[in-house]
Amino acid sequence: MRKRLVILGGGESGVGTAILGMKKGFEVFVSDFGNIKEKYKKVLIHHKIAFEDGGHTASKILEADVVMKSPGIPDTAPIIKQLKAAEVQIISEIEFASAYTNATIVGITGSNGKTTTASLTHELLKKELNVALGGNIGKSFAEQVSEEKYENYVLELSSFQLDGVEKFAPHIAVLTNLSPDHLDRYAYDYDKYIASKFRITMNQTKDDYFIYDADDKEIKRWLESHEIKARKLPFSLREEVQEGAYIKDNQIIIIFNNTTFTMPTATLGLQGQHNVKNAMAAATVATLLKIRKATIRESLENFQGVEHRLEKVLKIGNVMYINDSKATNVNATFYALDSMTSPTVWIVGGVDKGNKYEELLPLVNEKVKAIICLGVDNEKIINQFGNVVDMMVEAKSMREAVKIAYKLAERNDNVLLSPACASFDLFENYEDRGRQFKEAVRNL
Ligand code: ADP
Repeated sequence: MRKRLVILGGGESGVGTAILGMKKGFEVFVSDFGNIKEKYKKVLIHHKIAFEDGGHTASKILEADVVMKSPGIPDTAPIIKQLKAAEVQIISEIEFASAYTNATIVGITGSNGKTTTASLTHELLKKELNVALGGNIGKSFAEQVSEEKYENYVLELSSFQLDGVEKFAPHIAVLTNLSPDHLDRYAYDYDKYIASKFRITMNQTKDDYFIYDADDKEIKRWLESHEIKARKLPFSLREEVQEGAYIKDNQIIIIFNNTTFTMPTATLGLQGQHNVKNAMAAATVATLLKIRKATIRESLENFQGVEHRLEKVLKIGNVMYINDSKATNVNATFYALDSMTSPTVWIVGGVDKGNKYEELLPLVNEKVKAIICLGVDNEKIINQFGNVVDMMVEAKSMREAVKIAYKLAERNDNVLLSPACASFDLFENYEDRGRQFKEAVRNL
């Protein structure tokens, strides 16, 4: 008898898994508690895959042999509780799909920098290898596996994707950094969230590699008390490492198996301390996969970044407008402010996820001349920074915020949108917020 695969969530990863499951001979059923987007419905109909949306029919779900839960669905959802009580196996798309490929997998996780590092790594590899980019970016991993075209994958992995893995073992795992995020999904226990990130190493063997930020004190703390089988390759801005990557005399230095790669940080296409780290991580992966040094250098020089991540929008009257809408937590904004080299008008605010703004105080003191609060509730920001900057203004819309910024900024200043908050009070999502910013800037 055919095995029954039930997929909860009809988005990118759900539909991709449905296609792969069908090709692999499962009886597939997709169920979404909300609405499935038209474009995905069309795909499901095209492949003759059964589905429902606007609610879950428990009887059709509980008879599953295996359930793929989309990353957005929390463990506290009633249907998940029912499935657990019935002891049905629940896995993630990554777990399901990785069983059907022998390709070399590079898995990239962390609190910030996943998309940037994954995109950059893909860029470094693609000139010399047959490689796809997937996971939380673009086309789902599962659908790409179903196409059977690729020998290598670079996967961006969220903690939610990693929660649902059992056997998944990337040949190369990257952990960019750790800072508190999504704690609502981890019973407000930071250690649970960290443990979830480290699941990326759980099934690795001594023939695999683990690349990580050695300057990150939470990663260090974890490694002191947990054993990791993979070969460890740290990267650091602060200290020399025996094997891995570090900075000396403004050069990136990568040492691995008696080879040394060097490149001046000044020629990197992406600037800022955090991007130097992302570049070290990506270049270490490329070195392990034997990409030529000249190719690595050239790709690192040319890579211009991903939309909404410290994206330079326009220069108007010698003022640079920068879109960092993806900065939805304090740590991301820390690096944005850190990379500002001229006085900055800072647009900040939105839905606060329990932010601790204190760590930004020295940077704000040094670099920010005016703050424009763009959120429904700005009290915390006003209290925290009111005494630190000369000007503090509240705006009700992006257009208004950008107009105020235009008035306040003088020649050679920056206007930086780096909200440190989620966007759901005034915008659909961070992409919408970033696009509105860019449109308002272009309309100035
Ligand atoms: P993620 O996919 O993990 O959310 P992104 O690459 O989309 O990461 O970047 C999210 C935000 O974090 C952006 O504001 C970006 O400028 C910032 N950022 C990128 N890399 C790092 C890093 N290594 N450390 C801290 N912040 C980073």
